[in-house]
Amino acid sequence: MKWDRILVRYGELSTKGRNRRQFTNRLRDNIRFSFEDVPTLKLQAERDRMFLTTETDQDMETLLSRLPAVFGIQSFSPVAKTEKTIDAMAATTIAILSELETSGKTCKVTVKRSDKSFPHETNEVQHLVASQVLRHFEGLTAKMKHPDYNIKIEILQDAAYISAQTILGAGGMPVGSNGRSLLMLSGGIDSPVAGYMMLKRGVRLDAIHFHSPPYTSERSLDKVKQLAEKLSHFGATVRLHVIPFTEIQEVIQQQIPKNVSMTTTRRMMLKIADLVREDIGALAIVTGESLGQVASQTLESLTAINEVTATPVLRPLIAEDKTTIIQLAQEIGTYETSILPFEDCCTIFVPSSPKTKPKLEKVTFYESFESFDSYVEKAVETREVFRFPEKKQQESFDDLL
Ligand code: ATP
Ligand code: MG
Repeated sequence: MKWDRILVRYGELSTKGRNRRQFTNRLRDNIRFSFEDVPTLKLQAERDRMFLTTETDQDMETLLSRLPAVFGIQSFSPVAKTEKTIDAMAATTIAILSELETSGKTCKVTVKRSDKSFPHETNEVQHLVASQVLRHFEGLTAKMKHPDYNIKIEILQDAAYISAQTILGAGGMPVGSNGRSLLMLSGGIDSPVAGYMMLKRGVRLDAIHFHSPPYTSERSLDKVKQLAEKLSHFGATVRLHVIPFTEIQEVIQQQIPKNVSMTTTRRMMLKIADLVREDIGALAIVTGESLGQVASQTLESLTAINEVTATPVLRPLIAEDKTTIIQLAQEIGTYETSILPFEDCCTIFVPSSPKTKPKLEKVTFYESFESFDSYVEKAVETREVFRFPEKKQQESFDDLL
């Protein structure tokens, strides 16, 4: 087998003092969850690093291709196992470098000798291996500071372990280490990105979507399900709560003057989201709002909408430009789905020029003529819940919910 194991470094985790153990366990569980389809995976967690092994090359390739998406990993290195002789170590190093660009590149060999009975001194091993390697590759030269390839050889009791690359991980914190939030997930570009950012901070997510059939189609709901599925690929199950929102939108349409109907719509959404949040034991609500993007996202609008709850509403994109958000959406793979042209429940009912500075007194005055609470409660009670990824066995990962 080409690679014997993968060395995983935690980075941010190791700075967390007493919480470290808990975070390490969380990361270990999350890696198991992400690689449920790699049954031969074995994990060995140490204080500041973790080793992953599999039984086949194919499983190893699966790990290497998907590890960059797992939050809480600072970097990782594929490691090859070899016999404890100078020639074997040099040959393995050469085999590893053969698959990388060496022309015009620099390298350095660092040896750590944990097996003190090994007959050569550390410096001697470095020198002997390096000279064989440099002789083999014409364009490769030695460089002690900041080389392109830092070849690390660790000599242990059973064998020598060699790595030449440090691959960047996703960073952040393991999902689940910072509680649960409820993401308001539309079919747009922004909210999936907002969800991704919270997952990266270790927050577990449920998602809520407002659906208004027949004004919004089954296809627009499918699109939101696809987005929830995509978010669930970042290390944890995502439950999607679909709220039947048609009745409330029709009542708003009849009762609330057009220029503030958008504000009331948003307020009802937030009220419903807050009840669902309470029901699932989440602590905060997350939205994809970004300041000034549309009429509902001015500070005046956000204030009038936010008035319905004291629950923290987290808006990770509030200060981001649209171009940056689009770029992120492309990177995390949600963009293509987000731009599918299906109608949104808000755009259908909302007038072409809603107020950018709604007056809260006016909004609450108009709302007072209708008993919205009963509609709100009904919407919460009749919601449908889906779980992603669909293929996962519910039972085996209940502890991760
Ligand atoms: P997005 O790209 O996320 O749809 P947007 O720029 O289109 O955002 P709005 O449509 O005004 O802005 O929505 C603002 C936020 O309100 C969204 O990011 C999302 O969090 C929430 N939201 C809007 N519509 C819905 C919906 N139908 N279901 C759930 N949440 C919604
Ligand atoms: Mg939208």
